[in-house]
Amino acid sequence: MFKTLFTAIATLSLGSTALAEEKKADSMEEKNWSLVIHGGAGVIKRERITAEKDAEVRAALNRALEAGSAILAQGGTSMDAVEAAVVVLEDDPNFNAGRGSVFTYKGRNEMDAAFMDGETREAGAVAGSTTTKNPIKLARAVKDESPHVLLSRDGANEFAVLRGLEQAGPQWFATDERYRQLEELKARQTGKDGDKVSYFDIDMKYGTVGAVAVDQGGNVAAGTSTGGLTGKRWGRIGDSPIIGAGTYADNRACAISATGAGEYYIRLGVAHEICARMRFKGEDAKTAADKVMEELGELGGTGGVIVAAPDGTFAWSFNTPGMYRGKANSAGVKMVGIYGDEE
Ligand code: ASP
Repeated sequence: MFKTLFTAIATLSLGSTALAEEKKADSMEEKNWSLVIHGGAGVIKRERITAEKDAEVRAALNRALEAGSAILAQGGTSMDAVEAAVVVLEDDPNFNAGRGSVFTYKGRNEMDAAFMDGETREAGAVAGSTTTKNPIKLARAVKDESPHVLLSRDGANEFAVLRGLEQAGPQWFATDERYRQLEELKARQTGKDGDKVSYFDIDMKYGTVGAVAVDQGGNVAAGTSTGGLTGKRWGRIGDSPIIGAGTYADNRACAISATGAGEYYIRLGVAHEICARMRFKGEDAKTAADKVMEELGELGGTGGVIVAAPDGTFAWSFNTPGMYRGKANSAGVKMVGIYGDEE
């Protein structure tokens, strides 16, 4: 009888200790978050980048990581973290988004952006926006405050004013360096007007920016912002604002942001394809991203993607010599990289 009582008490106390341990583990798990950012992929090699540019880019990537991480560490949402990280990169002229966007053939800055919430799968995007200082905020406003997913050009500009988003004149977005790149592209054009190659950046420097995050609640979000391709014409829109191509988020799989030759990403539905592989084939983030990037490469496409999954795993994959990128998480990881050999 005593033995039975003792066993019962022991079981009870063991039970409550186990319960406490489990609770502790749970609450630790809830504190997990991660963030991945990119600032574009392309022919980015050590010999082509000055020490000054290298340092500026790394500093900006670090600032973006810090802005997003601070929000996630305090229990903020993945959406707020994604927006904060992208805003830092949009405001930095080193990247092809917001300030420092590339020029169209006609010498304008026309920006595309997308924003997606993995919990609700609500999304917002803009194409050819020209007046909103931070296009990522406009994309988010389309998601939050309109019944639509994708707005374009004058209409997108009008909507931004109605929503009270900060506006900026053309001089805010324009930089001398981007203008020089346009002139250089035009000078190097070999194809006749209208040729497929005539409006493509043959140097393949994609400076699009993006962020993906998972917050302490396990919700993922994705955001992408870009000026598109240097010398783009005829109202060309890339993959960045196309939900499922350059941007996607789904709590059942992952959040994705892409950079590269947008036409290929649209044709393959890259961001959705990576999520679908994770959902239906059970692949992890890295495997799914590598497979889809391999397929993209087989078609002739170049660029990269970043991925964050609700379980905290993150990955990137790119088939270009480099990609501006960074990652941070609650376990203390924090790194930024530029060249292909940086882990
Ligand atoms: N993906 C973008 C586009 O095609 C370009 C980039 O990644 O820089 O518009």
